Amino acid sequence: MKTIGVLGAGQLGRMLALAGYPLGHRFRFFDSASDSPSSLLAEQITADYADTSALEKFADGLNVITYEFENVPVETARHLEKFVPIYPPSIALEKAQDRFIEKSFFCGLGIPTPKFTIELSKGNEISFPAVLKTRRMGYDGKGQSIVHSQAEIEAEKIENGILEEFISFDRELSIITVRNKSGETKFYPLIENHHKDGILRLSLVNGNISPDLQKQAEEYAQAVMDTLNYVGVLTIEFFEKDGRLLANEMAPRVHNSGHWSIEGSVTSQFENQVRAVTDAPLGSTNPLGVCGMVNLVGTIPDVEFILKIEGAHLHLYDKEPRAKRKLGHITFVEKDMETLQKKIDLVKEVYELF
Ligand code: AMP
Repeated sequence: MKTIGVLGAGQLGRMLALAGYPLGHRFRFFDSASDSPSSLLAEQITADYADTSALEKFADGLNVITYEFENVPVETARHLEKFVPIYPPSIALEKAQDRFIEKSFFCGLGIPTPKFTIELSKGNEISFPAVLKTRRMGYDGKGQSIVHSQAEIEAEKIENGILEEFISFDRELSIITVRNKSGETKFYPLIENHHKDGILRLSLVNGNISPDLQKQAEEYAQAVMDTLNYVGVLTIEFFEKDGRLLANEMAPRVHNSGHWSIEGSVTSQFENQVRAVTDAPLGSTNPLGVCGMVNLVGTIPDVEFILKIEGAHLHLYDKEPRAKRKLGHITFVEKDMETLQKKIDLVKEVYELF
């Protein structure tokens, strides 16, 4: 039995604890907001991430610390690791928090990315349309826009920005992978992701991935994990274009596109994260069927209707509905894509998916 500290007490932390309790572990959360989805599940310390005495109180008696969002200040992680081991290692936060550092890191490992530059004045080699993003703190499509001219770049008045080639991708895919302290590594199958307004709406694991593409993704993820001496779950998001993968970004944590694994895989991403950070053997990442995960964003559909759909696994995060907010998800694990599609179509009767 270990007591695991989690920085961030959102829905990812909640699902982490729900996966860790059956293994006999205990949890303690740290967040700057008190009304968090994890607060009813375990003790929570509510304070600012820069409050070192609150951090030390949080760390007292913990066996290991992990985190559920990638914008944990690096100084917070560095302070805590003086007292308790923290996984994934803080270097992973440094690499993932700044899009320029992240993409440069991918390039250094030979992982292809869309072309990018932080030289936003005239004369760069990115053609229009292009995607202008803030280097830090952007997520779910926030802090980014498509630009068609140099004048539009300047009109955005972004101080610390990165300009990327616009990729008319065939698909968006993500790989979720996990490595423990002993270096044992496992990969989930590539996941096909569909977004609306930059927010994930639907993830599919439907066998529609060639072995070559899976191998490419696994090699890239392995390179990242080996270089960072990584421990925990890592997610890399890709664009697929003409059979090739271009890395868009990585998250040193469990990921929204992996929620299907709770019911759809032998071992969920959450349980494997717990196993990895407690240096336990990893569980099988094999899928149990054709899986689909519908994200509930902004509104919650009629719960009774959803629960009447055979095989619907409904997860609600105990959050107040608000536009663009992730409030829950529904997972289906079916025998084929046709059956899965029928179930998704039923959800669409009461929920505007796209
Ligand atoms: P991000 O915040 O980088 O994950 O971007 C959010 C979403 O914007 C992605 O999931 C894509 O749908 C889209 N996007 C981001 N970067 C690009 C790009 N370089 N080319 C085309 N679409 C992009």
